[in-house]
Amino acid sequence: MAQITVAGLSTVYPNGVRAVDGLDLTVADGEFFALLGPSGCGKTTLLRTIAGLEQATSGSVAIGPRDVTMVEPGKRNVAMVFQDYALFPHMTVQENIAYPMRVRKQPKATQKEVAERTAQSLSLGALLERRPGQLSGGQQQRVALARAVAIDADVLLLDEPLSNLDARLRLEARTFLKRLQRELGVTTVFVTHDQAEALALADRIAVMESGRIRQLGSPREVFSRPTDTFVANFIGSTPMNLLDGVIEGGHVLVAGARLPSPLDLEDGTKVVVGVRPEYLAMEEGVGITGTVSIVENLGVGSLVTVECPDGTLVGATVREQHEPAVGASVTFVPERGRLLLYSKETGAILG
Ligand code: ATP
Repeated sequence: MAQITVAGLSTVYPNGVRAVDGLDLTVADGEFFALLGPSGCGKTTLLRTIAGLEQATSGSVAIGPRDVTMVEPGKRNVAMVFQDYALFPHMTVQENIAYPMRVRKQPKATQKEVAERTAQSLSLGALLERRPGQLSGGQQQRVALARAVAIDADVLLLDEPLSNLDARLRLEARTFLKRLQRELGVTTVFVTHDQAEALALADRIAVMESGRIRQLGSPREVFSRPTDTFVANFIGSTPMNLLDGVIEGGHVLVAGARLPSPLDLEDGTKVVVGVRPEYLAMEEGVGITGTVSIVENLGVGSLVTVECPDGTLVGATVREQHEPAVGASVTFVPERGRLLLYSKETGAILG
């Protein structure tokens, strides 16, 4: 087991793309850590640089007390699972799982014993003689995981390991992965562009953009208090409302409404008001009033979008028994403490 310490790390590709840009990060021993962000933000490059598959241009990577910046991948004691699983098609499940042990020249008997035991724990016991082509996506994913964990690595690196699975299997595999990580207690870095997955699995999340970390925190912190509008936009299965507002006499004027300001700001300050659809209640009171324009079914409840007199669109989630009709006039009242104010200029959270 080991902590991962990344300091001042930059990884620049030969074509000049600075995929990781002066990044600092500490992943605690035994932690399940998610790297989240839009396509091209540098998640995979960071993971590959930790693994040693990409060379750092500057800065350092340490695993436990050991600086591994110049250490070749095979000597870092890191296991990695790729998006496409990278299984050997001509080898059986057993041979695939045993392969890294074979490379490490472990005794044949140990290879067999560990491969069988790992396969059992991942419900692959009956499939040891099959080849990858004879397995479902979920089974292939478990073989890739088994191969990674069988070598007892200090660190497990997962690059979108669930992305090839269909929606139902993906949920199952998620639960499975979480349990496995808990049992092994292995320090794990998990790359995903799926925010729901990161929120569900991780102890902590780093949201990346352009090779840097925009916010790092627990899933709850990142969800309920995004520190800038980029993160606010990215996190949440229904997007956060981000509405132009202006401060006046201890209030914020937004979408034709006058709401108590959560912060004491100077009159005339232009802000972006952030409030999640989940934190707006459709009820009588001081809130944002508009005409219902769209009602979208979310499974449990609906997302109701209203158009305010000034043309602003605001969304709120409601339970199905409260679903209003299109064209109705309704008021959304923010839950106490749920209104966030961002700088109109920089997008950074205020207060
Ligand atoms: P995705 O979610 O799409 O996999 P990502 O966040 O993992 O994206 P990276 O794959 O790390 O992002 O890519 C970061 C940046 O580096 C992108 O601009 C990408 O085009 C660039 N890049 C990635 N690999 C290479 C490479 N081998 N050579 C040059 N540029 C690369």
